[in-house]
Amino acid sequence: GAMRHLPYFCRGEVVKGFGRGSKELGIPTANFSEQVVESFPSDIPTGIYYGWACVGNGDVHKMVLSIGWNPFYKNIKKSVETHIIHTFKEDFYGEILSIVITGYIRPEKNFDSLDALISAIQEDIEEAKRQLDLPEHLKLKGDNFFHLPEGKIVNN
Ligand code: ADP
Ligand code: MG
Repeated sequence: GAMRHLPYFCRGEVVKGFGRGSKELGIPTANFSEQVVESFPSDIPTGIYYGWACVGNGDVHKMVLSIGWNPFYKNIKKSVETHIIHTFKEDFYGEILSIVITGYIRPEKNFDSLDALISAIQEDIEEAKRQLDLPEHLKLKGDNFFHLPEGKIVNN
């Protein structure tokens, strides 16, 4: 399952997504490039994960992440999207996003309505916040990975 890949460290540029309108839902997701997504283990399960994230040299924040099927590529390629649990003053397209994925919440699901989707994501966010306060997850917040020189692209 998902657990044997975790913790998973990843760093890469934030690119334009395919305009699912995540930001309009109040849940913007920073998308990694296709190249970074391809560097993920091919057998990592799709679904909702949580962990820590940092933009450029900024602070480390809690995040929820989805690994899903990318509709832009007719669902044959994965997409990896990070929602950072923090309010940013500005967008950060083109910046380097560093993440460590520490836990798995649930598989991908289809929802009957937009409201159902939004409440599921809100629950994912609350679950992520709780889990990340536990020592086994909290310890990764201070990992040296987040203090490596910027611009260096590292995968595991
Ligand atoms: P796209 O389809 O281009 O990914 P989104 O609606 O998902 O558009 O918005 C994502 C963008 O919003 C990110 O690339 C980033 O620049 C910006 N952003 C602002 N706040 C956040 C946040 N808390 N988490 C993730 N991205 C954020
Ligand atoms: Mg997005």
